Amino acid sequence: MARVYDPVIGGGGPAGLTAALYAGRAKLSAVLLERGLPGGQLLNTKDVEDYPGFEHVGGFELATLMTQHAQKFGCEIRTETVTRIWRDVGVEDPWWRWVVETESGEVYRAPTVILAAGGTAHKLGVPGEVEYAGRGVSYCAVCDGAFFEGERIAVVGGGDAACEEADFLTRYATKVYLIHRRGEFRAQKVIQERVLRNAKIEVLWDTVVKRIEGDERGVTELVLQGTRLPGGGYDFEGVGPLRRLAVTGVFVFIGFQPNTHLLAEHVEHDAGGYLVTDWRMQTSLPGLYAVGDVRSQLVRQITTAVGDATTAAIAVERYLTELRERRPVAGVSQPLREKYS
Ligand SMILES: Cc1cc2nc3c(=O)[nH]c(=O)nc-3n(C[C@H](O)[C@H](O)[C@H](O)COP(=O)(O)OP(=O)(O)OC[C@H]3O[C@@H](n4cnc5c(N)ncnc54)[C@H](O)[C@@H]3O)c2cc1C
Repeated sequence: MARVYDPVIGGGGPAGLTAALYAGRAKLSAVLLERGLPGGQLLNTKDVEDYPGFEHVGGFELATLMTQHAQKFGCEIRTETVTRIWRDVGVEDPWWRWVVETESGEVYRAPTVILAAGGTAHKLGVPGEVEYAGRGVSYCAVCDGAFFEGERIAVVGGGDAACEEADFLTRYATKVYLIHRRGEFRAQKVIQERVLRNAKIEVLWDTVVKRIEGDERGVTELVLQGTRLPGGGYDFEGVGPLRRLAVTGVFVFIGFQPNTHLLAEHVEHDAGGYLVTDWRMQTSLPGLYAVGDVRSQLVRQITTAVGDATTAAIAVERYLTELRERRPVAGVSQPLREKYS
């Protein structure tokens, strides 16, 4: 039997929890489906220093506060892994149109879905990366740059993000080594030029990180290796002698995978796979909203995630009001309930 809600919210990070709060406060019948503990990337963040109102707050503490706040306004939070989101175009009543399926076999139907499933930063996959995550290894310059004031750090990558963030990080670090496995960047020309002009950045071309080492305080050194083969071409596993680089931090920007694979149908997205929305956070499919890290936008922060979700929840409430007015029958007719339950 399908469970029916006004919005189904997929993902319980800052974006999903904020959507839940606003949906609950607007008296919508909302459910938030989260595969793990609610909080999203906050649960991987030791210190947050840029969330307004909190000079400093632990990620876990902020996640707990956001979860309690959403629950206070009545949103149901269920531990469920969403496996598929699709649009039942054959259904006559839009209230039953969106279908969300989960790993446990549950089926949810709703006129709207707010996708807040975030994404995953690509990892280097080298020894030390997991051990020193949050203790020198970072995937977010805006979030963690300020912790490296006056230090020597490294950035890994060769695209727009790596080059832009290396440049940004020179506000804090005295020296930034930009480690790239090829002999040329993939970044846009204008960004490359900014990097090459910046006297605080030293580019280590044709180089990969083999290991991240440290002590009880965090990262102290990277072990590097070349990638150029003597006869031409590359071996990205590394060739030739290992060398050491003393740094206290390493920022990894080698790609980010937004969690859009749950969508069964094509939805407009940008070159990076992030979902494109209008100003209401609605995607190219009516009734499907995208918020937070899964959405195409300039920066991905807690504040932007909660901002997106606020807009989406209020837009959903207005969309449902319009839908209700256009609906031929008040409530859900018995034949439909029997057909889709
Ligand atoms: C290490 C680190 C430190 C950071 N530090 C800061 C900081 O200091 N300040 C700042 O502003 N930003 C920081 N950020 C960025 C910030 O955390 C993100 O921008 C923000 O969490 C995005 O929120 P979100 O809700 O869109 O996505 P997420 O936080 O990624 O939440 C997505 C949620 O969806 C769930 N989900 C995914 N797939 C499914 C599925 N199939 N079914 C059910 N649930 C699913 C996930 O479990 C997760 O809980 C940091 C990020 C990282 C990685």
